Amino acid sequence: MVGTKTIEVTCEKCGKLYEAEAIDHIDLHDDRGLIRTLKSGKANRVQCPKCKKVMYLDRSIVINFEPESKIVVFDTSAKSKAAKEELQKTFANVVAFNETLEETGNETEFIVLHDLVKLKRLLEQYLKVYD
Ligand SMILES: [Zn+2]
Repeated sequence: MVGTKTIEVTCEKCGKLYEAEAIDHIDLHDDRGLIRTLKSGKANRVQCPKCKKVMYLDRSIVINFEPESKIVVFDTSAKSKAAKEELQKTFANVVAFNETLEETGNETEFIVLHDLVKLKRLLEQYLKVYD
């Protein structure tokens, strides 16, 4: 299931505060329809209802490549090695607190990506195998 959260966004152009659905988590197995959105880089793209300014939310999306034991955290702002390591650490903490993940966590490949081109490549490989 796709995990979304309603968040408040302040338009960087006109300052309007509005609510948007942010995507936190996607299971590729269940959310095939979102693969295209991910590939086009339009996940977590929001638009101001007042001035129509388009913004991209500065959030990471956790993508579960089920049935592969692979989890990708896509975060366009995680460009540096330090930022990637920080997310890796966060994941390790999540695993420690989640019983289901703790069982599989050690065998799960965990990748942090900021580059849409690399994400696209992984998604295309996935579609080739499971579509
Ligand atoms: Zn606006």
